[in-house]
Amino acid sequence: MRCLVTSSRPYDQEYLNAANNGRHELIFTDVTLNAKTAFVAQGFPAVCPFVDDRLDQEVLHILAKLGTKLLVLRSTGYNHVDIATATQLGMTVMRVREYSPYAVAEFALALMLTLNRKVHKAYNQVREGNLLLDGLLGFDMHGKTIGIIGTGKIGLALARILHGMGCRLLGYDISPNPAAQELGMLYLPLEELLQQSQIVSLHLPLLPETQHLLNAERLALLPKGAMLINTSRGGLIDTAALIGTLKSRHLGAVGLDVYEEEAELYFRDHCDDIICDDTFERLLTFPNVIVTGHQSFFTREALQTIAATTIENLTDYCEGRSNHNIVST
Ligand code: NAD
Repeated sequence: MRCLVTSSRPYDQEYLNAANNGRHELIFTDVTLNAKTAFVAQGFPAVCPFVDDRLDQEVLHILAKLGTKLLVLRSTGYNHVDIATATQLGMTVMRVREYSPYAVAEFALALMLTLNRKVHKAYNQVREGNLLLDGLLGFDMHGKTIGIIGTGKIGLALARILHGMGCRLLGYDISPNPAAQELGMLYLPLEELLQQSQIVSLHLPLLPETQHLLNAERLALLPKGAMLINTSRGGLIDTAALIGTLKSRHLGAVGLDVYEEEAELYFRDHCDDIICDDTFERLLTFPNVIVTGHQSFFTREALQTIAATTIENLTDYCEGRSNHNIVST
């Protein structure tokens, strides 16, 4: 099948070509889809977007007119696609339901440990010849209470790691996971979890009902000095409220791999550019905040699985087979 791979980077090309092995006609472009660029899909019955492609109502209507029938997403999350409109237009949307939950869970842990033990500061200090320990004091993870919000595949993978480190696990999910309960995770209402957790990590999808799940009121419930980690989706946190909580010195540390307004910013090099997003720039000024550019998923194993599943999705669609990666309303 002829498929346009949008927002593609050299690593996408390498892994998708290896998985495809000549079965489908894959054309790669670094163009990110939006209403102005969607014309690039002319003549492609299938499009393979990433999380920064904007597939809202307007773009989907343009794609449908251009003849696109299939969207094979290179992601688990599909909040960047207006699924209702795609369904109305008779477009099939397939995703990568699961690749490596370990990739994201391990990155969440990396953010926790870096912030806790101040590895990012130590790296710079030592290079400048400062071998003082002042300012680098951390805490034992062992025995700490960690709240995991969203205990599906990634939340469970993180729970298993933290269980091994001797942490006390609290969970919040609309559908509690028995495998997490077996580890001793105690499910609590969201507000109680926030009040009791020294570290909170977010692992649930961005949906209308989870948009700004952590607003000013809920952020204020966290104990003073608590750490917040978000490797899920930026919109789960009200960033303006988060900045207020940081300015008041209520939160101890924040690790963000995702950002509410990342679509125009992330996966691009702005070294010689002026970033005009003042909220983003403000986040970078806090000494106790680490921002990374949506890299949690970025391991060799994850890229291999994303590529293999994407090719499988294309093949299944071509051969009229349904599979569990189809997203419907
Ligand atoms: P999953 O579907 O296995 O788990 C999500 C969990 O969230 C489920 O247990 C579900 O019951 C729960 N949930 C859904 N709606 C909820 C609500 N309203 N309130 C409380 N809980 C709710 O998904 P996963 O594979 O663990 O991925 C979780 C999220 O991680 C994805 O949706 C995606 O946004 C994000 N993600 C980020 C990256 C990255 O690179 N930063 C990579 C992969 C996934």
